Amino acid sequence: MQTNFSLAQLADPHVAESEKILRKCVHCGFCTATCPTYVTLGNELDSPRGRIYLIKDMLENGRPADKEIVTHIDRCLSCLACMTTCPSGVNYMHLVDHARAHIEETYKRPLLDRLTRAMLAFVLPYPARFRAALKLAKLGKPFIGLFEKLPALRPLGAMLKLAPASIPAASPMASPGGVYAGKGAKKGRVAILTGCAQSVLDPAINETTIALLTRLGVEVVVPQGETCCGALVHHMGREEAALASAKQNVDAWTRAIDQGGLDAIVITASGCGTTIKDYGFMLRLDPAYADKAARVSTLARDITEYLSGLDLPEPVRKPGTVVAYHSACSMQHGQKITRQPKELLAKAGFVVREPREGHLCCGSAGTYNILQPEISAKLRDRKVKNIEATGAEIVATGNIGCITQIASAAKLPVVHTIKLLDWAYGGPKPEGVSEAESVAAE
Ligand code: SF4
Ligand code: SF4
Repeated sequence: MQTNFSLAQLADPHVAESEKILRKCVHCGFCTATCPTYVTLGNELDSPRGRIYLIKDMLENGRPADKEIVTHIDRCLSCLACMTTCPSGVNYMHLVDHARAHIEETYKRPLLDRLTRAMLAFVLPYPARFRAALKLAKLGKPFIGLFEKLPALRPLGAMLKLAPASIPAASPMASPGGVYAGKGAKKGRVAILTGCAQSVLDPAINETTIALLTRLGVEVVVPQGETCCGALVHHMGREEAALASAKQNVDAWTRAIDQGGLDAIVITASGCGTTIKDYGFMLRLDPAYADKAARVSTLARDITEYLSGLDLPEPVRKPGTVVAYHSACSMQHGQKITRQPKELLAKAGFVVREPREGHLCCGSAGTYNILQPEISAKLRDRKVKNIEATGAEIVATGNIGCITQIASAAKLPVVHTIKLLDWAYGGPKPEGVSEAESVAAE
């Protein structure tokens, strides 16, 4: 695509990067076919190509964001299906990240929207605040119907709907400074990201990961100073907050590397993995962090990527339970991890089925199911229909956002992939898996 940026504009490294991306787009439109918002809404401006034109126009003219561009960029899930489809290698992720930061800097949202976003950014990345908010949410549940009737308050209704009825106790394993020695001959040493929302909604995911890794001989450390990966605020265009989180994590993991080496930084939420693997890019312009961040990104591994590199024993459970594997967008499009989770499940004795339209987002997408509840619900229902059509007994996926989203509408249990793997290799039956499903595998 031809661009018309001035030399002065290109002196800004963010603009220069976006210009490089824009020039790669040949307007072929292949990406529209796999874009969930285009498939749902049928509007070119809600397709990747349409958004690319809108962003180009805004950046080239150096003008503040307006209502039109904000509407269509807000509707983008950042699912990155367009990047998987694009034959020209257009890095839509970096382009839309730049657009979101520009929107945040130049556009004044309506008051309720501003308050909702500020509240999400204040609460979600901090486990103690999130836990307190979930407790409060119980009081608001009776008013969901009322909130849903008022367009400006729909995000609040969506948030209350997603809040679980009970909140698990905080995990002692999430405490910073923990070191969990591997059993038997040492196979490796890794740091684990404790994360934010996941550690509150389902602390058993990391507990299970630590249990399985240590049984396999891997030492797991929970470095002091870790924080939220920054993805939630990054996707809201809050660059300063996202970079502050990234730096804090880079410092924590650099200390862990210096104090005993790390084979990997293991991540159990693929949404976080996509962002941490991008730290090298996000901090490239910061001379104090560029190299350290690039090293951290190189060490970042989804738990299924890391497990794929280990020698696994024979599963101890009878094979045969049918599992629908839902590949989170951040897993398949963000990190291009498509093979490993399915292979691990199959090797562990599960019969893996893939739902139709596996490339389409479930509508979770960070805070999307709160900020865009109508589109999100349509995508969720479509996803659940495809999953249930597989005839599977359990759904496995590797991202807490997808687990919460799909579980809010599916009749079958939705669990993190690591829990099924741990179960197959001698761990307990995952909570939520019924006796019938359990019997099939015992
Ligand atoms: S598929 Fe790639 S090159 Fe084609 S319109 Fe979409 S982003 Fe541009
Ligand atoms: S990231 Fe997803 S929703 Fe956004 S333009 Fe690309 S395919 Fe569409």
